[in-house]
Amino acid sequence: MNNEIPIGSAVRTQAIINRYFVKAKKNLGQNFLVDLDAIKGIVQAAGIQPGDQVIEIGPGIGSLTEQLLLAGAKVFAYEVDESLPEILSNELPAKIDGVRLDDRFKLMMKDILKADFPADFEDFLDVNKPIKVVANLPYYITTPIIFFLNQANLNFTSLTLMMQEEVAERLDAQPNSKAYGPLTIAVQTQMTVKLALNVKSSSFIPRPKVDSSVVVLTPLTEQMDVGDPKYFNWVVKMCFSQRRKTLNNNLKNLVPDPDQRKQLIDSLGVDPRIRPEQLTIKQFIQIAAAISPQKS
Ligand code: SAM
Repeated sequence: MNNEIPIGSAVRTQAIINRYFVKAKKNLGQNFLVDLDAIKGIVQAAGIQPGDQVIEIGPGIGSLTEQLLLAGAKVFAYEVDESLPEILSNELPAKIDGVRLDDRFKLMMKDILKADFPADFEDFLDVNKPIKVVANLPYYITTPIIFFLNQANLNFTSLTLMMQEEVAERLDAQPNSKAYGPLTIAVQTQMTVKLALNVKSSSFIPRPKVDSSVVVLTPLTEQMDVGDPKYFNWVVKMCFSQRRKTLNNNLKNLVPDPDQRKQLIDSLGVDPRIRPEQLTIKQFIQIAAAISPQKS
């Protein structure tokens, strides 16, 4: 097979699958992207420029990795499937712009959720320079990965992530919508969310059951003061525990005393019959601050 044909084309991917007897592992969320427009769309959404430093999660057989490298990025990748290093080193271009692959690409065989930043990559990436995370995520761990990256000691400038469309909608949701909930609020208190593109399930081998979207998450320039994020996220979850019930009902476990509850709801300036999905993030911050055991 002519190596000039990109890995992300269906014909090259199929040839690689046949040559190495690749059997996509469902338990590792393996759905290989075979849509060059979508792959280039991810690279563009991440704003990759020559010299950019990228952490990729799950390079698979290298379709996205190859386009990141061709766009000029230096890529450090985490993967767990032991059958893939051989394929990646054989199939990725040996040289790009006269630079050897080894100087532009490093693979670490490690679960991303066990990553140790920056120790894992400090001999390859410049830890004092910006780092972007780009991935077609393994969908079975989409939200754990987002939370892990957000809490990790990684000074990233953006996360450009392909995920299930339904999760992307939850990240990007606004109040008064079905998708708005604890995940929306946990993420939007930390990062801005931009939906970059939608990708049909037919763009993957094997074809997943759901369509996908690419989302760009960027740390907020001004952090929202939610107090202890763990406590805040727990309060939000409690407020949504019975989504279809009123805020007053949902608050019963958190604030058992009816008078105190009324006082809290009054202080938000809302009707007690309001449902949790109608509250803004600011109002959730007010609720958590009012009932926090830490408050002065
Ligand atoms: N990047 C390739 C593409 O776009 O075609 C493959 C994407 S596939 C959806 C997800 C990849 O993540 C697979 O290669 C899988 O083996 C890898 N993976 C699964 N669990 C992982 C984990 N915990 N840490 C790192 N990589 C993981």
